[in-house]
Amino acid sequence: MVMYERIVVLTGAGISAESGLGTFRDKDGIWTKYDLNEVATPEGFKRNPQFAHEFYNARRKVGREAKPNAAHLALAKLETEHSGDVLIVTQNIDHLHEAAGSKQPVHMHGELARALCSHCGASRQWLEDLTVDTACPDCGRTEAMRPDVVWFGEMPYHMEKIFVALSNCDLFISVGTSGTVYPAAGFVAEALQAGAHTVELNLEPSEGATLFAEASHGPATKVVPAYVDKVLGA
Ligand code: NAD
Repeated sequence: MVMYERIVVLTGAGISAESGLGTFRDKDGIWTKYDLNEVATPEGFKRNPQFAHEFYNARRKVGREAKPNAAHLALAKLETEHSGDVLIVTQNIDHLHEAAGSKQPVHMHGELARALCSHCGASRQWLEDLTVDTACPDCGRTEAMRPDVVWFGEMPYHMEKIFVALSNCDLFISVGTSGTVYPAAGFVAEALQAGAHTVELNLEPSEGATLFAEASHGPATKVVPAYVDKVLGA
């Protein structure tokens, strides 16, 4: 296999599916049970904050108990053993990349384990439930705390760092994402423009499947370790 220097890996809900965390758009996905307008938009949160808090409190609890799977572990191994650069960018708000040993995955959609005060802007680690009565530890305001996750209509985090990495990468790997949520869905085009080899590792062809030069379809716990071994020449 060709040697690659600078690798960017984008992960989505599919990488955490076999750890018991539901995906969003699949047949039994989270959006089939909840209205995304109520729990994943600033307007929905304003209308019914307690309902949104309960949704995220439940996800936080499940997330705390989930264990990383072979796909998260393989990407952590890629980070450690690859002699060049590896940047893991995740759309996931869970902490399974960190639990697998990844050093600093970029959480472009925020983190379930952080809370943000919409009054003073402070963000801090948060492992407990949030309610409308939770006071901000920094400014003391109630009715202002929210999960530090990026909702539809909000600007994803770390975009500058991500675009710099994409414009310099020679291998782009997309894992477990349906390719429907922008800007992440546009990363493959950005990597292609940089001349990178593009690879999709997903249960099935995604929306943007035709943009990838190579694909391996199957469960993440099978296809990701196999591809990582190929890159590492194992
Ligand atoms: P998505 O639900 O739209 O798509 C998931 C993709 O993963 C699908 O293409 C599906 O075929 C594939 N998939 C399902 N099971 C798989 C498996 N075992 N192995 C490999 N692939 C599998 O998810 P997305 O593209 O990440 O959507 C983006 C949004 O979903 C983001 O905003 C993200 O924050 C959010 N999300 C995060 C989590 C999490 O943190 N664990 C969970 C659900 C959704």
